[in-house]
Amino acid sequence: MRIGFGYDVHRFAEGRDLWLGGIKIPHTKGLLGHSDADVVIHAICDALLGAASLGDIGTHFPDTDPKYKGIDSKILLAETGKLIAAKGYTIQNIDTTIAIQVPKIAPYIEMMRSTLSDLLSIRMDQISVKATTTERLGFEGREEGVSAYAVVLLDS
Ligand code: MG
Repeated sequence: MRIGFGYDVHRFAEGRDLWLGGIKIPHTKGLLGHSDADVVIHAICDALLGAASLGDIGTHFPDTDPKYKGIDSKILLAETGKLIAAKGYTIQNIDTTIAIQVPKIAPYIEMMRSTLSDLLSIRMDQISVKATTTERLGFEGREEGVSAYAVVLLDS
C-alpha cells in the first residue's frame, strides 16, 4: 500500500465561478487560477500523484501551458486517475478536508462525492469530503481564499 498527501490553496476573486470538488457552488465570488481553480480536486490530484511518486499536478498540467487555461479540473482528475492506473495502482480510499469560512459546503458534499467517485471509477464509500471553517482565523477565516487537504491510500 502507498499513502499520498496533497494540499492546495486558491484566493477568492470577483467575477469568477466557485468550483469545489467538481461542483459549481453559488457564491458572490469564485477562486482565481489558471484552471477553474478547483482547490479540492487539485489537492486530490497531488495526493494521488504523490502516492505513486509521479511528481505533482504542476509537473503534468503546467499552469504556463495555454492548453490548461480555464480547464475544467474534472478533466485533470480523470487524467490523473489514468496515470495512477497505468502504474498498476488502484485507489483504496481518499479523504479530504476543505477549509472555508463561507459559503456552507454541507449541502454539496454528497454531490461532490458522487462526481469525484465517477471521475475516478471508484465507489462513493471510497471517497470522503469534509469541510471546516477556521473559526475566522487566517486567510480562510478572512474569506480571502480556500485551502484543501487530501490523503489517499493506493494498493499496488
Ligand atoms: Mg491549484
